[in-house]
Amino acid sequence: MSDTIESADAAAQAETDAKWLARAIELATLNVANGGGPFGAVVVRDGELIAEGQNRVTANLDPTAHAEVTAIRAACQAVGQFWLAGMTLYTSCEPCPLCLAASLWARLDRVVFAADRDDAARGGFDDREFYELFARDRATWGMAVDSVRTENAPEPFDAWLEQDARTDY
Ligand SMILES: [Zn+2]
Repeated sequence: MSDTIESADAAAQAETDAKWLARAIELATLNVANGGGPFGAVVVRDGELIAEGQNRVTANLDPTAHAEVTAIRAACQAVGQFWLAGMTLYTSCEPCPLCLAASLWARLDRVVFAADRDDAARGGFDDREFYELFARDRATWGMAVDSVRTENAPEPFDAWLEQDARTDY
C-alpha cells in the first residue's frame, strides 16, 4: 500500500519537475536569441512560480549574472525577504559552484537541474573546470588566493557582534 502511495508521489513529483524544467530550458534557449548565455532558471513555491532568471553575463557586463543568481535575486525581491526556504530552484543546467553556493545562502529547500556540467563543457563553459579546481589545492590555481592576516582583521566581526540591532543571516 505505502509502496503504491510512494510511487504515485514520485510520479507526481517527476511530472512537476518536468514541467518547471521545461520552462527553465525554454528560458535558456530563448535567451540565446536575445544575446545571453544558454541558461535559464525558475524559483517555485508550492506549485507557484515566484521568479524567473536568465543568464545576462555578457549583456550586463556582470560575470555573476548567472541564470540561477538572477532568479534568486528576482525571487527575493518578489517575496520581500533574503531567504527562499520552502522553495525549489529549477535550472536548465547543473549549477556551477557560484550558483550552488548562492542556493545555499538563499536557504532553498531543493535544487533541480536538467543538463549537467559535461553538457556545459561542450558549450565551452567552465562549470566542470571550476568544480575540478575546487577539488584541488589552491596553490595549483592560476589565480592567487592569499591570506594576509592583518592585526585588525577580526575587527569587523567585533563590530558586528557588538551591534545589537544586526540582522543575522
Ligand atoms: Zn552559475
